[in-house]
Amino acid sequence: MASYDSDSDFDEEYTETTVLLGYTSKDPEDDTISRLGGSPEWLDPDKPPSAALARCGVCKDMMVLLLQLNGELDRFPGHERRLYVFSCRRQTCRRKQGSIRALRGNRIDKQVAAAAAEAAAKEAEEAKAKKEAEKAKADGPGLGEALFGTKSLGGSGSAGNPFATAANPFSSGGSSNPFATSTTSNPAPAAAPAKAAEPATQPKKEEGTATSLSKTFAETLSLNNPQQTGGPPPPPEPWPASSALPKPYPVSYISDAELEVLDPEPPPIPQNVRVEEVDDSSAGDSGAGGDKDIFESSMDAVFQKFADRLAQNPDQVIRYEFNGQPLLYSKDDSVGRVLSAAAGTGRSGMPRCGNCGAGRVFELQLVPQAITELEADELGLDGMDWGTIIVGVCEADCVQRGVEIGEVGHLEEWCGVQWEELATN
Ligand SMILES: [Zn+2]
Ligand SMILES: [Zn+2]
Repeated sequence: MASYDSDSDFDEEYTETTVLLGYTSKDPEDDTISRLGGSPEWLDPDKPPSAALARCGVCKDMMVLLLQLNGELDRFPGHERRLYVFSCRRQTCRRKQGSIRALRGNRIDKQVAAAAAEAAAKEAEEAKAKKEAEKAKADGPGLGEALFGTKSLGGSGSAGNPFATAANPFSSGGSSNPFATSTTSNPAPAAAPAKAAEPATQPKKEEGTATSLSKTFAETLSLNNPQQTGGPPPPPEPWPASSALPKPYPVSYISDAELEVLDPEPPPIPQNVRVEEVDDSSAGDSGAGGDKDIFESSMDAVFQKFADRLAQNPDQVIRYEFNGQPLLYSKDDSVGRVLSAAAGTGRSGMPRCGNCGAGRVFELQLVPQAITELEADELGLDGMDWGTIIVGVCEADCVQRGVEIGEVGHLEEWCGVQWEELATN
């Protein structure tokens, strides 16, 4: 084959990555939470987020749910956690900032939070004692790790985490672990140690945001939300009755998740991943030339990698890896430029959490097969036209300011949309 070079070290082994791929099914099995489409189900049905968080930043209408994900992670013991991605249904809002938004809801178990705080304090105390005993070579990292040990419990590599309740974000019950069927011994990307460098910047952040503690939640939110234009922050707004909401997309449960496995040799020519072409069975041969032109015009290395990775597991609808790397659709748009510039710096390139000041990390991205699922019932061909939606979250999984431990809070998270490239010829 073409890619056989005398000097290429060809690896016959399949490669397993640290990215968890989510697949849809009409059967929810044990996880009825994680899904594409449908209506959001809040952690506390009586405490929905402010409706303002789910309004389109362009037309201000209520948006519809693209994704709801059970985001519970070992690294956040006692945190019930959900992610939501919303999109405006209006075609006139497409390709505009604010027409797709992401929310994170969480609730921290009081007892677990107290126990975790106690464990962290104990760990800090032990570290301090150890440090004093050793005196000489006690340099920052040990103490820093101890101080911020609460959130790195899952990844600190210490003995078993007593608070671990959910092994992976796709399983609410815990009885069906998607990894159980996997051939790997790797437990889950969620259990992977947090990438270095991020926690190290933590102390600075917390100092930096001390001055902003007096800001109201709404003020913070507007700072937090780069998609909102100027003007006063929106007041909390009751969630509308379902009759007043736009028609939701049909539900597909994301009940199946497996670590990404890549072929030893990628397909030589990745097919265009644009869903239109995939579904374009009725167009006959007439469109073939045009499609080829569109494809070739966007054949930069980044897009080629994107297309290749998806082509190897074409049914994936989401890619998940807390603190992992997004697979960019392009590095030339505003999102791609920012994220690719940050690559290798130890930072994500995403704006910091406006609620607590911690850094943001990549958590998941939606890929075009999700559009195919969401629009399965749509008649027109003029469907959603994003290439990927990248969601970045607070690395500390902070709770909405003003919300007590044990109560549900919601925060807007960072959402980077890479729109499908338009034909230039
Ligand atoms: Zn809109
Ligand atoms: Zn935060």
